[in-house]
Amino acid sequence: METKYIFVTGGVVSSLGKGIISSSLACLLNAHGYHVTIQKFDPYINIDPGTLNPYEHGECYVTEDGHEADLDLGHYERFTNVPTSKANNVTTGRIYKNVIEKERRGDYLGKTVQIIPHITDEIKRNVLLLGETGKFDFIITEIGGVVGDIESLPFLEAVRQLRWELGDNALCIHLTYMPYLQAAKELKTKPTQHSVKQLQQLGIQPDLLVLRTEHDIPETMREKIAQFCNVSRNAVFQSKDCASIYEVPLMLHSQKMDEVVLTKMHAPVNGEPRMKPWHDFVDKIHHATETVTIGLVGKYVELQDAYKSINEALFQACTYLDHKLNLKYIHSEKLTDENVGEMMEGLDGVIIAPGFGNRGIEGKFIAQKWCRENDIPTFGICLGMQCMVIEFARNVLGYSDANSVEMDPSTPHNVIDMMEEQKHISDMGGTMRLGAYDCRLTPGSIVAEAYGSSEIRERHRHRYEFNDAYREEFEKAGMKCVGENPQSHLVEVVEIPGKRWMVGTQYHPEYASTVLNPHPLFLSFIEAAIAYKTSK
Ligand code: GLN
Repeated sequence: METKYIFVTGGVVSSLGKGIISSSLACLLNAHGYHVTIQKFDPYINIDPGTLNPYEHGECYVTEDGHEADLDLGHYERFTNVPTSKANNVTTGRIYKNVIEKERRGDYLGKTVQIIPHITDEIKRNVLLLGETGKFDFIITEIGGVVGDIESLPFLEAVRQLRWELGDNALCIHLTYMPYLQAAKELKTKPTQHSVKQLQQLGIQPDLLVLRTEHDIPETMREKIAQFCNVSRNAVFQSKDCASIYEVPLMLHSQKMDEVVLTKMHAPVNGEPRMKPWHDFVDKIHHATETVTIGLVGKYVELQDAYKSINEALFQACTYLDHKLNLKYIHSEKLTDENVGEMMEGLDGVIIAPGFGNRGIEGKFIAQKWCRENDIPTFGICLGMQCMVIEFARNVLGYSDANSVEMDPSTPHNVIDMMEEQKHISDMGGTMRLGAYDCRLTPGSIVAEAYGSSEIRERHRHRYEFNDAYREEFEKAGMKCVGENPQSHLVEVVEIPGKRWMVGTQYHPEYASTVLNPHPLFLSFIEAAIAYKTSK
């Protein structure tokens, strides 16, 4: 089958969940036996989101090939189990950078370089790139932003051209919002009509409409929308708020969205999609009655998207273990030696979150000390692992000034140090230790038991490392280095045996946890938290 392209745009307002709709459709097409990948085109000028503050853009997701990516790529992987790559996330910045580099090389042979055709051609080239690998039947392309934004115009023009060139091998889905007027007790279709008009003015006729709504959309209203927007009646879908994002594929399937897409694209439907494992997972969400309470110690607690992959990995593990997740955010800036007992009361397990910079760091040490002394199951991730190491150095080894050189460049006890190859780097973007690296685990350690293997591969995103000069001292005092990179011998995992569950990973296991493949370390951590809760 020739590769088919599905474009997903959004209108009326942002944050409607284009990423979840794209992921859900990919999940369904997968379940019909097709190979699918999703890519995101973001209209901002940053080359990638790696340099963006989480307040701007939520979590930065990392692909196996070391690309710092939009957090939607996390949803894509969680819903499809298919790894993404640098090619799955392209920004305006990268498009312009490529075009300007080509111009400097003289590739345009003296032509005036313009938005149309040069920028749009570069966008089109990037849209088609993954299709050319021959690995995918469907490529879903999500266009970031909202129709009507100045900055999305070149992307929409590229979609218009591709739609024309690809004919039946292309399809456009537009996601809009149906506001509900409480006073009139009525859903309103006008914003959708306007948004579709705006797309039509740009030369794009959507084939499917997905309407985000808080209430069921009556049949008559769907007919009206179909009529006003030139789409067939069976191609108007509602996306009603669900208790869990993982219900969305089932909700779309119940409206036959998968069948409509396949039929419109002349691809065989192949009967019912194989959604049994997904159904089982959603059933588990609904049937869990017991709760496990996890504290997440971080500095972005007011921001739900900052720790997206951790939240989802925790949720998946809890669901598989038939528990509801009660996640409590603990603001590391507010933690003191005096209030730590009160702020951490009732937790069955604690995550010390990743992060950068000094803000809130002392609170993380306080939380870690409290967890270690009270033997709470604790999971330190990246900066969280570094905090475990620093806290141990301060309070067990007795180096009260121990620190990471990130926080204190002149610390005499630099237990977390800058990697040699990082010392000469001045650019901030794309220069960290990024992407998947091999790691060898010590047989018999908590982590090796959890993975059921001693050879693993996990994704990284950091500049600093455990300082090997201290390894022996830590091990003698009870903190074991149980994971190391087989080539560089960098320490990747520490744990304190004898504790209920005290593990720190320099890598980010959360990026690899998916619905159908929950991460073994999160499962093991939640198991320990449940056991601790039961023992209380
Ligand atoms: N700031 C730390 C480093 O760069 C940890 C980074 C992280 O938690 N992702 O090494």
